[in-house]
Amino acid sequence: MQQINPQLRIIRDEVLGCTKCSLYKSRTYPVIGQGNHQADIVLVAEAPGANENRSGRPFYGQAGKVLDELLESVNLKREDIYITNILKCRPPGNRNPKLEEIQACTPFLLRQLKIIQPRIVGCLGSFASHFIMEQYSLSDCCAGMNQIHGKSFEVKRPDCTVRIVPLYHPAVASYNPNMIEILKNDFLSLME
Ligand code: URA
Repeated sequence: MQQINPQLRIIRDEVLGCTKCSLYKSRTYPVIGQGNHQADIVLVAEAPGANENRSGRPFYGQAGKVLDELLESVNLKREDIYITNILKCRPPGNRNPKLEEIQACTPFLLRQLKIIQPRIVGCLGSFASHFIMEQYSLSDCCAGMNQIHGKSFEVKRPDCTVRIVPLYHPAVASYNPNMIEILKNDFLSLME
């Protein structure tokens, strides 16, 4: 039986009532996060898409099928990990997040990471990879995804050591099936 973290519940309630940026006006449900509150691995992606906005759950559409295949390839289940996004509400038309939305929303993500204290943060896509790498003082290592995907960057902090692993976004395999093998290989780096 998985334990519920009361601090994560507080964040959930705050996000459900959040009006800090204009995205709350067009959302059906925010996607707060899903999975194990004690996870060793947290996956961070960009923002909910249309299916996620309708369901309130991360990776509920085509990219979710790819993600499930990737997790299965390394013997992980969704309930073993925690999955969340940089933005909790869907940007209309899946446009890129705006600066003011990032500034308003990412304190939730940073609190989630502080509470869960994962050993590994897998970043899905360039947007999440660059944001997380900046947060963990890895700006000097930031580069195009073709250079950093599947690499593991260790960050030592006073209270913990965490590995940051930039990964391609699972959606790329929906457009280009050849990418699935690269993604599977990179997911192995998460487990090492
Ligand atoms: N793409 C994302 O970046 N996040 C989701 O939750 C779903 C699709």
